[in-house]
Amino acid sequence: MKNITVIGSGTMGNGIAHVFAQFGYTVTLVDISKEALDKGINTITKNLDRQVAKGGLTEVEKVATLSRILPVTDLAAGVKNADLVVEAATENVDLKLKIFRDIDANAPANTILASNTSSISITKIAAVTKRADKVIGMHFMNPVPVMKLIEVIRGYSTSDEVTNTIMDLARKLEKSPVEVNDYPGFVANKILLPMINEAIITLHEGTAGVEEIDTVMRLGMGHPMGPLRLADFIGLDVCLAILKVLQDGYGNPKYAPCPLLVNMVMAGHMGNKTGKGFYDYSDPKNPVVAEQFRKTEFA
Ligand code: NAD
Repeated sequence: MKNITVIGSGTMGNGIAHVFAQFGYTVTLVDISKEALDKGINTITKNLDRQVAKGGLTEVEKVATLSRILPVTDLAAGVKNADLVVEAATENVDLKLKIFRDIDANAPANTILASNTSSISITKIAAVTKRADKVIGMHFMNPVPVMKLIEVIRGYSTSDEVTNTIMDLARKLEKSPVEVNDYPGFVANKILLPMINEAIITLHEGTAGVEEIDTVMRLGMGHPMGPLRLADFIGLDVCLAILKVLQDGYGNPKYAPCPLLVNMVMAGHMGNKTGKGFYDYSDPKNPVVAEQFRKTEFA
């Protein structure tokens, strides 16, 4: 496997392109506009600079990594020589089904098609292609260059051969892959999101404030980030969407999103990306508890 095409150059796509290029793969990075691609390449450059400053990479390796990434806006041309396509476009089911139809029509018949989706069924995505045995989930974690886990999701029809190829490939990127089956939320989000939701319910019920809840989970459970801070980082709209997938997929009321989360998303307070969530990111390096949660009554 030599040529990797990454679809989407946002938060995850640029990280995925970065890691493949760093490990010597030729990467074609596809997005819908030159602006989106420029933004992705800028982020990769900044992150590589940080690695050089920390001594993890030489300047020569940085330049070589960047030279292996070719940004393009034409998906059909971008996938025609791919050995593997990793799709990391916006989390929208109709968009992903369209992208997979397009990839399937333009990539060579033996190309493996992976999705980095957080919550959409791999089996559903695979069903719109003519190669369901070669469609798989490759769920990287954010930030991709730093996080070791890749959740490798086997769709209903994914073959053993394709699964083994992707597990081996993940190890070549010095990641730790874990194989899981394709059910709503897979493993990571099936466990993480109910915990985040419970933290929001705890805040909503007035049991404790934002900092108190996050401190309990950081210092008491050894989590590097409290659940409310993590929810802001993931994006509250994304958290809500994943909870709805769990609620629909399992039909169990325990996954019902907390009304406070629903309100915050409706109000446009979605965490880091909008500058406000459980914390206020007006000074992004020093987030403070958002004004709404600074009083003692939280409900
Ligand atoms: P993002 O919004 O940062 O980036 C999405 C990119 O996709 C944008 O640059 C957008 O222009 C591009 N795009 C949209 N339509 C396209 C098309 N037709 N062709 C090519 N590019 C297109 O989103 P993200 O956070 O990087 O998420 C991407 C995927 O990764 C989603 O499926 C998400 O669920 C998953 N994911 C996200 C995280 C996270 O923490 N952000 C973690 C794991 C998985």
